[in-house]
Formats: sequence, structure tokens, C-alpha cells
Amino acid sequence: MNDIARLAAENAVNKGFNDVVFEHDETHLILALALITSEVSEALKVFQDPYDDTLPVTCGMTLNQLADFNNELADIVIRTFHLAAKLNLPIGDAIVKKMEKNTTRPFLHGKRF
Ligand SMILES: [Mg+2]
Repeated sequence: MNDIARLAAENAVNKGFNDVVFEHDETHLILALALITSEVSEALKVFQDPYDDTLPVTCGMTLNQLADFNNELADIVIRTFHLAAKLNLPIGDAIVKKMEKNTTRPFLHGKRF
């Protein structure tokens, strides 16, 4: 997964996104986080917009809607991997470690959802 993060960062460099986000100073970390949030908003917009290609398949979304939603989820991960790689953070290791920790937590661990 760390390799995927590095590839996401390399592609961001090749496509010019790296210069915009990271070339200036550390305040651009805020921009990188905002861009991750913007992808979350795009996923919400896909969920919010009506699609009429088929009957809903799951969560009220149609097949085309689910495909677009999946693409926005991918954008969230790609932007996150790019940020982690630029900061030399081993995001793959952190994900594995966090998932292992989550398996030890109690059911819902005090939350309603
Ligand atoms: Mg997007």
C-alpha cells in the first residue's frame, strides 16, 4: 500500500498537482486537506443527485450512481495517499496497524453508529 501511495504522489507530480499543493510552504497542508474534503463532498453530491438509469441497487443508488460514487471514493484515497507520500508517512503501515487495533475494540465501543 505504501507503493500505491508513492505512485499516487508520482502521478500528482507528473500531472502538475504537486506544484500547486506543495511547492510553496507548509500552509499548503491546509489546501491538501481541503482537497481531500472536496472529494468527500463530490461523493455526497453523487449520492444526492437523482439518477434514473436503473432501479436503486443499494443505499438508494443506481448502478451508474454507484460507479460514480466509487470513483469519488477512489479520489479520496488517492488524495490521501498523495499527502501521506509527500510527508514521507508510511500510510500503509498506519492503516494495517489501525485495522489491527480496531479488531480489539468492543462492539460499537460506546457509539450509536
Ligand atoms: Mg472527484
